[in-house]
Amino acid sequence: MRVGNLSGRLTVFTDAGAVDVEKVSGGRFSADPRSAYEQWDAFTAWAAEAVSAADAVPYAIEDLGAPSPRPAQVFGIGVNYRAHAAEADMSTPEFPVVFTKFPTSITGPFSEVVLSGPRVDWEAELVVVVGKPARNVPAERGWDYVAGLTVGQDISDRTEQMKNQMPQWSLGKSFPGYSPMGPWLVTPDEFADPDDLDLGCALNGVEMQRSATSDLLFPVPALIAELSAKLPLLPGDVIFTGTPGGIGATRKPPVFLKEGDELVTTIEGIGEIKQRFRSA
Ligand code: ZN
Repeated sequence: MRVGNLSGRLTVFTDAGAVDVEKVSGGRFSADPRSAYEQWDAFTAWAAEAVSAADAVPYAIEDLGAPSPRPAQVFGIGVNYRAHAAEADMSTPEFPVVFTKFPTSITGPFSEVVLSGPRVDWEAELVVVVGKPARNVPAERGWDYVAGLTVGQDISDRTEQMKNQMPQWSLGKSFPGYSPMGPWLVTPDEFADPDDLDLGCALNGVEMQRSATSDLLFPVPALIAELSAKLPLLPGDVIFTGTPGGIGATRKPPVFLKEGDELVTTIEGIGEIKQRFRSA
């Protein structure tokens, strides 16, 4: 099932078009995309029965918003692919490297992003949305707590990220528009293997990153286990799971985003998001 946010309204996307959940459910489920995560099992059970092509209407992709537009918590995972650890000249971490991306940085999948400086970089990432309260969840049950998967970019101002001797990553990855995601959430049951999805991104049509989530050092269930061991995960929470090799900062010479650039990020079985950049 593909679930998302169309002009701020909770929507199920079918091959025939968009189905407005509040209208078709007669108000049982509200139009607020967040409301679905609060009762995910009931919502998906209803949607599986009630959503039909007869209620679907055409829509414009420009009207898609973030599948989880106002999460309570947004986690980022650093250095979670071996190739990215190597290019960043970092050793493979023993435990997940966790930071936060502040929720005001979230936007929908098709957006214009104002660059915060001359050293802004891309990071194609699989993004997880949490589907139910999770606390001390063992990894074997991690997928049970996932509402679905979407495509994200962890856009990163490398100057801001690394400017202190003790780097802190959160602010440099939280400028407005630096956490685009979408185009919708795809439920885990839709994938032959949700732990093995091709992902990548292209800058102005040139491929920059290409990998598969099977290369994640800490895959999705391990991240649910690690995070929920420390704090409660809440419905609608978002996890950016880390980026594979091919970022701009470690290229020789480095490549950074500039005015007029177009960045397309894709994940197998989910779709693509597209960002256009401009100077402040
Ligand atoms: Zn990242």
